[in-house]
Amino acid sequence: MVEFERGPRERELAERVSAFIREEIIPFERDPRAFGHGPAADLVREMQAKARAAGLLAPHVGTEWGGQGLNHREIATVFRAAGYSTLGPVALNCMAPDEGNMHLLEKVATEEQKQRFLKPLAAGDCRSAFLMTEPDGGVGSDPSMLSTTARQDGNHWVINGRKWLITGGEGAGFGIIMARTGQSATMFLADMNTPGIKLDRILDTIDNSMPGGHAVLSLDDVRVPADQILGEVDEGFRYAQVRLAPARLTHCMRWWGAAQRAHDIAADYACTRQAFGKPLVDHEGVGYMLADNLLDLKQAELMIDWCAWVLDNRHDGATGTTESSMAKVAVSEALYRVADRCVQILGGKGVTRDTPVEQIFREIRAFRIYDGPSEVHRWSLAKKVKRDWRHRQGG
Ligand SMILES: Cc1cc2nc3c(=O)[nH]c(=O)nc-3n(C[C@H](O)[C@H](O)[C@H](O)COP(=O)(O)OP(=O)(O)OC[C@H]3O[C@@H](n4cnc5c(N)ncnc54)[C@H](O)[C@@H]3O)c2cc1C
Repeated sequence: MVEFERGPRERELAERVSAFIREEIIPFERDPRAFGHGPAADLVREMQAKARAAGLLAPHVGTEWGGQGLNHREIATVFRAAGYSTLGPVALNCMAPDEGNMHLLEKVATEEQKQRFLKPLAAGDCRSAFLMTEPDGGVGSDPSMLSTTARQDGNHWVINGRKWLITGGEGAGFGIIMARTGQSATMFLADMNTPGIKLDRILDTIDNSMPGGHAVLSLDDVRVPADQILGEVDEGFRYAQVRLAPARLTHCMRWWGAAQRAHDIAADYACTRQAFGKPLVDHEGVGYMLADNLLDLKQAELMIDWCAWVLDNRHDGATGTTESSMAKVAVSEALYRVADRCVQILGGKGVTRDTPVEQIFREIRAFRIYDGPSEVHRWSLAKKVKRDWRHRQGG
């Protein structure tokens, strides 16, 4: 049975994170360094120094890497609190793609690789990137379209291809490159200054919360030593699932916090702004929007907690992919409805940068696409419906 009661450590940590975000991080939201292609490097350093001093850096990783070794349920509570500012997850070093990469490295990397790549990443001494998606008709929703190749040459592998929409590609210390090896795929760890990795451009996108923005990268004869293969050769697609199931869910957690913030701002406006002789909230059209926000936020919270509970309690070797697909679709769409209503409630102010609601709306719109667009998740769930039906027919 799913346990909804929060333990004392979880509650205490969430309270500390909430206070930290309110007192230390929200004031940075007006800092000009917070805009552009994600928060600037010096701002990230400044915020992370504060989180480090408060003992809140990378709370999700194991204690041996400086974190608190939280389970998924505890992570849910803490990340929701961190997401209350779009800068919060960056400050706590639990933003994508680094947080998902830390999870993957903890699960799959060798001890030596952990020392070299995970340790500085968890400490906030470098950033990382995850290089999967490709332009020019390569891999997007369909992993089988992976066109970047890696061929073995002695004790090295030589990688060729192009990648795009690579979050944090500019400024990252290292990347995890997904490349085709024969009929399957392999993950490689590569320093981003390896000869042959070239930044073609940074894309101008709808969102701007992730440091470095989203890059287009060329990989021309990138030579990676064999000991920088992450896990086993040809196991890349399996590891992608190990990374993706929790990574989708942590996005849900962080953006839940942002949607709650938007709701609080909209509620404040609706209760104080007058129109036609009474506060907006007393007009049914506005009051019902706020009521619908409460419903969406609570349903999203329950979906996150349920999926986190599944990830914590699954001992059958399954990765929780189906559950995280369900959570991703339900939560991203619910939070988008919340953000959209908040823009509407704020009227003209909703589309200005005078409140964070405008950014939250843009960020959550993008979330409906990355880590699997809603349609792809629905499509894979529909396949499950058919499989289950066949199973019931004895097929
Ligand atoms: C802000 C942002 C950050 C990102 N960061 C990274 C990153 O760090 N690293 C990385 O590797 N990638 C990253 N991506 C890429 C992201 O994972 C892809 O955009 C996503 O997987 C979809 O691939 P695509 O853009 O090629 O869309 P396509 O595959 O071209 O699909 C386009 C649309 O077709 C529809 N569609 C596709 N398949 C189906 C189906 N089976 N049934 C019904 N409809 C379908 C969906 O509506 C989908 O949105 C990022 C993307 C964004 C927007």
